Amino acid sequence: MTDGPLILDGREVSRETRGGLARQAAEFTSRYGRKPGLAVIIVGDDTASQIYVRQKAKACSDVGFHSRVDTLPVDTSQESLLARIAALNAGDSFDGILVQLPLPPHISEEAVIEAISPAKDVDGFHPVNVGNLLLDKPGFVPCTPLGIMTMLSFYDIDPSGMEAVVIGRSHIVGKPVAVLLLRKNATVTICHSRTAALAEHTRRADLVVAAVGKRGLLTAEMVKPGAVVVDVGMNRLEGKKVVGDVDFEGLLSVAGAITPVPGGVGPMTITMLLSNTLLAARLAQGESAQAP
Ligand code: NAP
Repeated sequence: MTDGPLILDGREVSRETRGGLARQAAEFTSRYGRKPGLAVIIVGDDTASQIYVRQKAKACSDVGFHSRVDTLPVDTSQESLLARIAALNAGDSFDGILVQLPLPPHISEEAVIEAISPAKDVDGFHPVNVGNLLLDKPGFVPCTPLGIMTMLSFYDIDPSGMEAVVIGRSHIVGKPVAVLLLRKNATVTICHSRTAALAEHTRRADLVVAAVGKRGLLTAEMVKPGAVVVDVGMNRLEGKKVVGDVDFEGLLSVAGAITPVPGGVGPMTITMLLSNTLLAARLAQGESAQAP
């Protein structure tokens, strides 16, 4: 291949998508006399989590949403966190509620996720929304998988009929993206740490999603020429550089399309959080929802 692969530019897709969301937020605000709102709770002082939370709040204000960040001390009890969530569920100031993960070990993530009203669960982690996803019913879809599908659609990559291999089976990336690809009529294989002969699966794939968190997991000889490669991995090297799971340089001579890290899937995740928050706001106003 002489021209190299199509680079799936998450920053560009995000810019376009956020432009559309800002216009829709302005329409929403003039129609209902209020802005869509997101409440974010962070427990403790984990540096990476604080950066993510600040990015989310800034993204909200950039598109004309209002947001609030509650920073709670690391020794906050589960009971008091759940009480805060209950108050946000009952109030009408915020359409979406997001509790930044991970939480300190004395707090059950499961209990917290299940405490958020499914109608305000803009992360799409509540069992009701997970069930809706499996049943192809309207609901909130986790942001990273939704971002991947939005990016594929932006570049007119239609998974229908493709052999798709998803590496990773987490609740927040691997499983939901596999379901969304299945919904788009791909034939989906999910690989994980116990998969024997990973390369045998990836080599016959037209589309590979790598969502593991291991640098260098997917190399050029594991990929079919012309395949679409989506790299979800975020692996922080010493210093601050972040790399994906995919040998990007090596794949430039093999892949048909590929996401870079950074600048691929990452920016789409927050964009989809905004999209889910606007959806929650519309539902709160009684508008009908579409399955994304
Ligand atoms: P996770 O919960 O740790 O799941 C990792 C998955 O990879 C597991 O299913 C695991 O299998 C599988 N795995 C581990 N080693 C493997 C191997 N050698 N071969 C095949 N599969 C293997 O991680 P996650 O939350 O899904 O995140 C995955 C990566 O995406 C991380 O780097 C994370 O930072 C990144 N991420 C990025 C974004 C973004 O916005 N760009 C968002 C979320 C996550 P088992 O189930 O068998 O253990």
